[in-house]
Amino acid sequence: MKTVFAQSCPGRLGVVPRTPARRAADMLPSALLRKQRPRLPELSELDVVRHFTGLSRLNFSVDGNFYPLGSCTMKYNAKFMEQVAALPGFTSLHPLMAQLRGAGHYTQGALQVIWELEQQLCEITGMKAFTLQPMAGANGEFTGVMLIAAYHRDKGNHKTKILIPDSAHGTNPASATLAGYEVVNIPTHNGIIDPEELESALDDGVAALMMTCPNTLGLFENNLPRIVEKLRRVDALLYYDGANMNAIMGKMRVGDVGFDVVHLNLHKTFGTPHGGGGPGSGPVGVSERLVPFLPVSRVEKQQDGSFILSYDKPKSIGYIAPFYGNFAVFLKAYAYILRLGGEGLRRASEYAVLNANYLHKKLATTLDIPYERLCMHEFVASAPEGMRALDIAKALLDRGIHAPTVYFPLIVHECLMFEPTETESRETLDELVNTLEDIVKTGRENPQALLDAPVHTPVRRLDETAAARQMILTEDMGA
Ligand SMILES: *Cc1c(COP(=O)(O)O)cnc(C)c1O
Repeated sequence: MKTVFAQSCPGRLGVVPRTPARRAADMLPSALLRKQRPRLPELSELDVVRHFTGLSRLNFSVDGNFYPLGSCTMKYNAKFMEQVAALPGFTSLHPLMAQLRGAGHYTQGALQVIWELEQQLCEITGMKAFTLQPMAGANGEFTGVMLIAAYHRDKGNHKTKILIPDSAHGTNPASATLAGYEVVNIPTHNGIIDPEELESALDDGVAALMMTCPNTLGLFENNLPRIVEKLRRVDALLYYDGANMNAIMGKMRVGDVGFDVVHLNLHKTFGTPHGGGGPGSGPVGVSERLVPFLPVSRVEKQQDGSFILSYDKPKSIGYIAPFYGNFAVFLKAYAYILRLGGEGLRRASEYAVLNANYLHKKLATTLDIPYERLCMHEFVASAPEGMRALDIAKALLDRGIHAPTVYFPLIVHECLMFEPTETESRETLDELVNTLEDIVKTGRENPQALLDAPVHTPVRRLDETAAARQMILTEDMGA
């Protein structure tokens, strides 16, 4: 596709400004005026509309295509949540208003949303308190590990290690390392944590266990009470990676099981699209004993029902992100939770798990399924003997379906990880099954066809290393 600069035609105009350029120039100090005309493309309004509409069509998106990308919850999020987030009373609010004396009444609504969303998340997870500050899942993990460190420091515990099973999300070991801990890998058995294996890694130097549940194999950890009890014995804390909450909402509360920290991804489960690099929000919920360490500021409700920001928390780990977090994402989560209600959230989880199990069963004759037990919101499969996950993924793109997550988790051979989400219909799931059957058949009869895919996408196979390391981000526009 040509850039707007390549399409430019001298003298062509989209919009005629109401104030002629010369009059506008008269109103500005001469030192601020350009010496040369800006090199803007000259296009008609229709050229511009077609150009950007065309660009948007080059994208894969949930609005246009099925997107069964594992561990990402690429589901439909209703447009009304975007409208809520765009309400001018919220978008026009400056973040410093909350601290401006005499301006308190302007910010009461925003503070109330923060406070009520924290309460809603406490209700959903059974935790004592939440901070909404972290800007993404990984940022939430880092916050959680910092809270764990603060707890041990405060108690005078000397702890250096965090245990992480090999089925955890990749950000878990990264967050623990970033916070200064040594990561000890716990091998899983039949896809879940083996309490005996855990026992052998436990000693007084263990600060916490970080666990993804359902784990990246899409499996639920069956031995939670035993695991909690073992860690408690050495005063180690329990971290629950709850990024994929849409497997368990309304079914289990993390706090009730005895976890000390949980992070959620609002930009997966709660009404904001995931992918594309943001915006995200990774709220962190804690048990009673970690409340004093939560980041400042805290929103507090006063006796008269009004809300204030409180900074008077001597044990707080301080700021983890600028201001209060990603406020527009809170609004979408708040609207989503109120719209669905407790019953609706529970049903969302049930459909997410039902859809995944439907696909899991239907694909058992097409792909290799390493773990046959009931899965949660997602599951893993291996490419059939002699085929590569990468080639199957590329062939799917040609047929209008986004690829699943590939080669993750690392413990599965030629891994394809599918997450259908709760919002897809049975017809769409069947279409994926039929398409994969067709791809595998093609791969057997004509292996070269899979190696050549994709042929219908805007770009074919790229040298992925060069695409990341030798990026060309500008176009030569000529003189
Ligand atoms: C997506 C995800 C994360 C990371 O979240 P980001 O917002 O991408 O940082 C962490 N853990 C699990 C299980 C996830 O699925």
